[in-house]
Amino acid sequence: MPTKFDPRPPGREDFPPRKANIRLIAKKRDRTPSRAAPGGEGVEGVAAGEAWTTWWLWSGFCVGTLFGSFIHLVGWRVPRGESIVRPRSHCPSCGRTLSAWELVPVLSWLALGGRCRTCRTPIPVRYPCVELAAGTLFALTATHAANPIAAVAWAVFWLLLLAVVVTDLTTMRVPDVLSLPGAGVVLVLSVVSGAQRPLAAVAGMAGCALVLVLLHLVSRGQMGLGDAKLYLSIGAMLGFWGGLGSLVLASAFGTVIGYGMRWAGWLKPRQPIPFVPFIAMGVVTVVWFGHPLTRWYLHAVFGGS
Ligand SMILES: [Zn+2]
Repeated sequence: MPTKFDPRPPGREDFPPRKANIRLIAKKRDRTPSRAAPGGEGVEGVAAGEAWTTWWLWSGFCVGTLFGSFIHLVGWRVPRGESIVRPRSHCPSCGRTLSAWELVPVLSWLALGGRCRTCRTPIPVRYPCVELAAGTLFALTATHAANPIAAVAWAVFWLLLLAVVVTDLTTMRVPDVLSLPGAGVVLVLSVVSGAQRPLAAVAGMAGCALVLVLLHLVSRGQMGLGDAKLYLSIGAMLGFWGGLGSLVLASAFGTVIGYGMRWAGWLKPRQPIPFVPFIAMGVVTVVWFGHPLTRWYLHAVFGGS
């Protein structure tokens, strides 16, 4: 039975991960003549299905890290008013244009020991982290999405979220030029892919943004309006309750990690911390762990099964 935090409309059992879905997808793929072993349903068919799932997992991961590398560039350049096409990727310190082998996601950073080859300036660990995050989210999406349109919709949503994580981490801003057109694109994709029904998507969008605007007013501007604009997309994709769940989780992550960082001395007493990374953690948790979490919560609060 769908619960309040269920980001999907009833009957849409396709996206958030369940082992049964992997099997279902694997089975569906077995039936395709070119991929299935002769006989289809037998042991060979299952093996072919598993091999196919592994193939999707790794291709999703590799494509994801490439997109992650690009979205880091977008998140870095857009708030600085730079073009995302020119100039080619270069070291921000010494300005040298990077060669192809220095642009391989994650691996180049590891091979270079996290430093520029010429000027030895450290390359922030944020680069490989964003690439790995995109790779992981793409891999999970490639193996769990019900159809190609759903896969594209979720991939675009993850990229928008990651781009804004980068802008918030580096400039403490959520640029309108990303959040507002992004919300329009995500709304269309959410409805077309069937992630949300039209009314639920619009209600989620408006409801979540309204909650954030209220929080902005109550907190006297501590919660930025940029976060409210980002929640237009999150509400459109997750629906109102899913969006609200991600916000509650984001506050919990922010409180725990924020206090931890202050306690460890990584933050000065009144130094503000960017909130979008915690929002992203909340969203990822709702999408991939929403069901077990709601079940656990309801059990803990109301008891019974
Ligand atoms: Zn350099």
